[in-house]
Amino acid sequence: MRFHVITIFPEMFDSYLKESIIGRALADKKISIKFYNPLDFCEPKRRVDDRPYGGGPGMVLRPDLFLKAFALVTRNFSRVLGRRHQTTRKTSGGSRKVKIIIFSPSGKKFDTSYAKKSAKKYTDIVMICGRYEGIDARVMKIIKADLPAKALASAGEISIGDYVLTGGELPAMVLIDCISRQIPGVLGKYESLEEERVSSSEVYTRPEVLKWKNKNYKVPKVLLSGNHRLIENWKNKTQR
Ligand code: SAH
Repeated sequence: MRFHVITIFPEMFDSYLKESIIGRALADKKISIKFYNPLDFCEPKRRVDDRPYGGGPGMVLRPDLFLKAFALVTRNFSRVLGRRHQTTRKTSGGSRKVKIIIFSPSGKKFDTSYAKKSAKKYTDIVMICGRYEGIDARVMKIIKADLPAKALASAGEISIGDYVLTGGELPAMVLIDCISRQIPGVLGKYESLEEERVSSSEVYTRPEVLKWKNKNYKVPKVLLSGNHRLIENWKNKTQR
């Protein structure tokens, strides 16, 4: 899976993505993540945002800079996205399937089943991160209008929950994390049926008896029984 992230704050991703399971998935080339910064297209002394038409408190991200960043992403798979997205450098496009996402608190809700389907269906996911009051709405309209009729690519707005964040960078990391877990080989030896469930049961590790402030805290007996059927029942019952 190739993730393409359009953001004016690419450094925000560094510390999270280089560690642990996602860090390993990157090193093993199970996933790749590329950043495209609309600020790279900003003229000297001009701002990346501007005042909203119709008034309102927040600033709006300029459409031209985001479309230029998007054009940079799509030159790698111009055939998939159709002629109008083609730029000078022609590349094969091959059998890619591309999803284009703009983050918005009012978008379609992201969940595990969306992550599972995405991991299976797409070769490339483009994520466009807003900030401030959001991105000029024409960006999504233009991207959608230019998509080819064949279902090689689709575009939509995605929310990660009913709350408003200061930007789309955390949502992008949430999607990268959650979708990557669904890619075969990423979880390695931890890969399990657990991925079928949204909830999980309580988990315990050593010591069997934890002494904490003069009290003993034991691991539930059933987990030490070695009886897989009983353990599975217990897990189902204690699912949160
Ligand atoms: N008043 C704006 C808020 C913009 S928040 C509105 O209601 O749309 C700034 C940016 O943060 C958004 O453009 C979006 O990219 C991101 N964002 C904030 N909350 C989000 C959420 N719950 N899910 C996905 N993206 C979110």
